[in-house]
Amino acid sequence: MLISIVVPCFNEEEIIGRFHDHVTAELSTLDGEFELVYVDDGSHDRTLPILEEIAATDPRARYVSFSRNFGKEAAMLAGLQHADGDAVVIMDADLQHPPELVHRMLALYAEGYDQVIAKRTRTGDRVTRTLTARAYYWLINRLVDVELVDGVGDFRLLSRRTVDAILELTEYNRFSKGLFAWVGFRSTTFEYENAVREQGRSKWSFGKLLNYGLDGLLSFNNKPLRAAVYLGLILVSVALAYAAWIVGVALVNGVDTPGYVTLLVTVTALAGVQMVMLGLVGEYVGRIYYEVKRRPHFLVKATNTGRAVPAQHQA
Ligand code: UDP
Ligand code: MG
Repeated sequence: MLISIVVPCFNEEEIIGRFHDHVTAELSTLDGEFELVYVDDGSHDRTLPILEEIAATDPRARYVSFSRNFGKEAAMLAGLQHADGDAVVIMDADLQHPPELVHRMLALYAEGYDQVIAKRTRTGDRVTRTLTARAYYWLINRLVDVELVDGVGDFRLLSRRTVDAILELTEYNRFSKGLFAWVGFRSTTFEYENAVREQGRSKWSFGKLLNYGLDGLLSFNNKPLRAAVYLGLILVSVALAYAAWIVGVALVNGVDTPGYVTLLVTVTALAGVQMVMLGLVGEYVGRIYYEVKRRPHFLVKATNTGRAVPAQHQA
């Protein structure tokens, strides 16, 4: 049995060497064989030369390097495409995903699970981040069809058939958390204590997180559009009821002119709602635009996987 470890790396020169030593040491006690598939996501630092060195000294290590930064989603996709394992583990390069947990994953995999998902605790996270995450998951689980769990990320083991199923999903806007949940199969979750990043810094700014959250909401189905329709209907009913009330009052008391504030507030509020809804429709149209272009998810600049890079992915 072959286990593949897929590692997306973006500017990880400080830690990638230690990561490799750590993982190989940890997995040396494994029964089966293992391979490491590093994906250099267009790093600007020495990540690629270091990966080349690692690959030169360790035949179990292979790498794919992108022509520029295409994002972690693209890097994971490339890693899954190049992984040959019967089971594939996706792991961050920053040692925030403890390599020793792979044993636990494999034990659960042996029990017949197709996805073994590691769920991190939120130890060390800022309170604000924990709370926004909680609110976000509450909201998103009401909007998308698949169940998303707080603390669950990309650190997981996937069986071969799960990987193949995910590779069948060729959409351009990839929201892996959702894709993993979408393919289904038998899955199980276990919890681990969150480790604080030791070197380098997280590539997630608040703005990036916000956009990622929005992607999650919009890239899965059109329920937000449905919500927009309902909101419109509610607003129309409220307006009709208010109109009826005004007419009633006018009939009983005669016409009175005040109402400037009401008018102003109503007009601005409705304009705001319309802008948001227009933006929402625009988001979906934008997504369609990206999908119909059928551009490759990434371009490969260098690789030693020995596997032919499909024409569409060649730089
Ligand atoms: N990563 C990547 N491409 C990017 C950003 C990040 O391949 O554009 C990789 C990064 O090298 C790391 C993993 O994705 O291995 C998680 O990134 P990070 O640690 O910055 O995210 P966090 O742990 O804060 O969620
Ligand atoms: Mg990290």
